[in-house]
Amino acid sequence: MIKIEQKPFQEIVDCIQVYDHILNVGCGGCASVCMGGGQKEVNILNAELEMYFDEKGQNKEIGSYTVERACNMTFLEELDEVVKDYDCILSMACSAGVQFIAERFPSKPVFPAINTVAIGVDRDIGLYEEKCRACGDCVIGYTGGICPVTRCAKGLFNGPCGGTNEGMCEVHKDIPCAWYDIHERLKAQNRLEDIYKIREPMEWQNQVQRAVVHPDYAHRYMEEE
Ligand code: SF4
Ligand code: SF4
Repeated sequence: MIKIEQKPFQEIVDCIQVYDHILNVGCGGCASVCMGGGQKEVNILNAELEMYFDEKGQNKEIGSYTVERACNMTFLEELDEVVKDYDCILSMACSAGVQFIAERFPSKPVFPAINTVAIGVDRDIGLYEEKCRACGDCVIGYTGGICPVTRCAKGLFNGPCGGTNEGMCEVHKDIPCAWYDIHERLKAQNRLEDIYKIREPMEWQNQVQRAVVHPDYAHRYMEEE
């Protein structure tokens, strides 16, 4: 799932300080699960902001609202009445959610309170690990379930490079070489032939904005041939 982290406090303050009525919108999806932007984090940030502005003698109204998922317009509809009372929107949803909020309310300035950092997994409580960069052409079926785009310092599709050294990457002695790990995993699965299949340079699909259509809904969004 998407992983986020809160922006530096002063950066958030700098965005919103000219407004008197600020609505902080959280997201009950990924942002909430990774403890970065659910209702609890919205409440904590709002309390810190209120304290900050009180100390500066600035009287601000900072509201809060958490939608079930900010990346779905149906859930954003419920904000329609709420935002009318505010000058700007701060959001702790991921950057996709923040953009959807900005699209729904184009007349309101919308500011992210978070940075979206990764698609990853929960390695432990509060310890997230990046696993995918959404390249659009997944090869992990051939690489033992290890992503070479995310794990290899050079993002190599054919590896390892000449810098691999006793299982570690040449960029740092503490970073495991992705392609060494791919080799070891494929070897353990008797699938080493996969590493000898040369893959063509990939056509990066994440260099332009993509729309992803679920096959069951293709009739809705794609023209008939
Ligand atoms: S190969 Fe591409 S789609 Fe597959 S895990 Fe890596 S970045 Fe993600
Ligand atoms: S040493 Fe391994 S992980 Fe590092 S750049 Fe080369 S192939 Fe990639």
